[in-house]
Amino acid sequence: VIWLGQPEHSVITTCAYCGVGCGFKAEMKGTQVVRMVPWKDGKANEGHSCVKGRFAWGYATHQDRITKPMIRASIQDPWQEVSWEVALNHAASEFRRIQAKHGKDSIGGITSSRCTNEETYLVQKLIRAAFGNNNVDTCARVCHSPTGYGLGQTLGTSAGTQTFKSVEKADVIMVIGANPSEAHPVFASRMKRRLREGAKLIVVDPRRIDLVKSPHIQAAHHLQLKPGTNVAVITALAHVIVTEGLVNEAYVAERCDPKSFNQWREFVARPENSPEALEAASGVPAAELRGAARLYATGASDGTAAVTRRPNAAIYYGLGVTEHSQGSTMVMGIANLAMATGNVGREGVGVNPLRGQNNVQGSCDMGSFPHELPGYRHISDSTVRGQFEAAWGVTLNPEPGLRIPNMFDAALSGSFKALYCEGEDIVQSDPNTKHVAAAMMAMECVVVQDIFLNETAKYAHVFLPGSSFLEKDGTFTNAERRISRVRKVMPPLAGYADWEVTQKLAQALGYPMDYKNPEEIMAEIAALTPTFAGVSYEKIERLGSVQWPCNEHTEEAGTPIMHVDKFVRGKGRFIITQYVPTDEKVTRKFPLLLTTGRILSQYNVGAQTRRTPNNQWHSEDRLEIHPHDAEERGIKDDDWVGIASRAGDTVLRATVTERVQPGVVYTTFHFPESGANVITTDNSDWATNCPEYKVTAVQVMPVQQP
Ligand code: SF4
Repeated sequence: VIWLGQPEHSVITTCAYCGVGCGFKAEMKGTQVVRMVPWKDGKANEGHSCVKGRFAWGYATHQDRITKPMIRASIQDPWQEVSWEVALNHAASEFRRIQAKHGKDSIGGITSSRCTNEETYLVQKLIRAAFGNNNVDTCARVCHSPTGYGLGQTLGTSAGTQTFKSVEKADVIMVIGANPSEAHPVFASRMKRRLREGAKLIVVDPRRIDLVKSPHIQAAHHLQLKPGTNVAVITALAHVIVTEGLVNEAYVAERCDPKSFNQWREFVARPENSPEALEAASGVPAAELRGAARLYATGASDGTAAVTRRPNAAIYYGLGVTEHSQGSTMVMGIANLAMATGNVGREGVGVNPLRGQNNVQGSCDMGSFPHELPGYRHISDSTVRGQFEAAWGVTLNPEPGLRIPNMFDAALSGSFKALYCEGEDIVQSDPNTKHVAAAMMAMECVVVQDIFLNETAKYAHVFLPGSSFLEKDGTFTNAERRISRVRKVMPPLAGYADWEVTQKLAQALGYPMDYKNPEEIMAEIAALTPTFAGVSYEKIERLGSVQWPCNEHTEEAGTPIMHVDKFVRGKGRFIITQYVPTDEKVTRKFPLLLTTGRILSQYNVGAQTRRTPNNQWHSEDRLEIHPHDAEERGIKDDDWVGIASRAGDTVLRATVTERVQPGVVYTTFHFPESGANVITTDNSDWATNCPEYKVTAVQVMPVQQP
């Protein structure tokens, strides 16, 4: 830690990293941050923090920051610094030229979960009102879009059911496809405290993550499944609950739709859905599946704790659930299990998606999907559309636009020609890099708005310098629907905050946008979005934060627990979850399965954390390989290895470890040098196109140091 001097004043703001959304006190000397101190009154963190929020903020003033707008005629040309006016007018005239030549739908935009609610709202407004189409998407497409779909279908709203504090009342905790110790550390500490107090733990993960066995914590069941078989596991658990009489019949009768429940009960009870029948597919012993199901439903693995006092059983899940070809199916399978056992609607239970980036929840809430206006209302709904048309003074297109992968495909087929990309490094973060890069090169105009010249900017024609979280005002919404303020502690290095840049681009396109500040944008969001009705800066200022919904029917600070008396959709709806094996098969040529994840000190594509002291703890992506597979290939710890899939190949160093099971390898995706997404494929979730990052058939061989 470097001593930067005695602070003179402080500003309360919100961490720029994960979906926990910790509150911080930025301690300042003039306009320089000298320290980030976790905020004691922050409801999400209660004075705690992790190495990212505490130490990894220096990227904001890193020498790599780009602070001048730039343009170039082609991606082979050098960048040329220009004024804001020239850059924005150039971008606007290119967008209009391309639309005149190739049609209104030939352009679109992508926003990021790193942007504030206000910024995201403006991007989707710009695209709908000024571009005149619905070709807007967000990086939630590649992480939690199945959560949006799956929870919407079953419970009626696309959000986690609980406040973080709720875990303190859980008796049984099931963690599925999430590694909170690395990705959501402050919430992980809270969960571990509850586990040390005696709550029972079930971990569903192909890797032996630290939760499985750490000081004073031992999972009762580690369902170490084969990558890609989540739905087989959740269906087997449901089979046990239904066939062993563990359904909470009173809850289901009162709260759920009987027709869908009866169909689901009949389906999961079939012999082909038993743990014994699905043991071979999932790789999880039937006895473990039976024990875990009984523990979740009754509080005891042998089922002897007859259902006299049902435990509070909570499910927490992450991208190991969503990033699969059956991601949405699995989310619905989780909701089925929670409803069948009566584990939704009170403290200590629930269905809790752990959101990766700080504003994934908010970016989805703000209507940055091509089929939805803010508040998850379908664009085809003429009543809702009419409200926005009246407020925005335009006629909106009722047809859903292109999702991110559809934009790439359309670019390659010649119908999509220009992109506005704010705060998202799609070339590093999206799957099958070769495919993405080819699509970017096929476009006539790419406008990137970011703080660094990232991998995506290599394909850009216009670069608009963005602002870090320290340079802007606005709000983030965390994984528990908590809306917190992010506050400006220093002026934007490039002169404008991101919302101002989007507004100026709209003006250059001839669409009138004239907000004085982000508070005015929030007032418009609250007026047009039922889930945000009642949200205001004044209320957040007074209460510290609020959890949506927070309107006249709720407590003033909002709703810590959802679906208390009834589900948002009315009756909870069960959905049949038929396990369908992924198309990504191992073969003699590609005999191992690669799965990907994150590490504590780094964040996402690493653009921020790699430029901070956190880089000293983890300065490269490594490939974890089981000793058996390593020995078979003559690979030792620290050796360089080549890894190849049907999509591409790359080189990185090996860590030989039993954290992974034989047949499975694992890596992170924080470094462009190793570029894990060169390997991942175009397979995606059937409902949302969320990429199947978690399952790629690969071969691994030793290579010389590159
Ligand atoms: Fe909190 Fe997440 Fe930031 Fe860590 S990265 S301080 S857990 S919000």
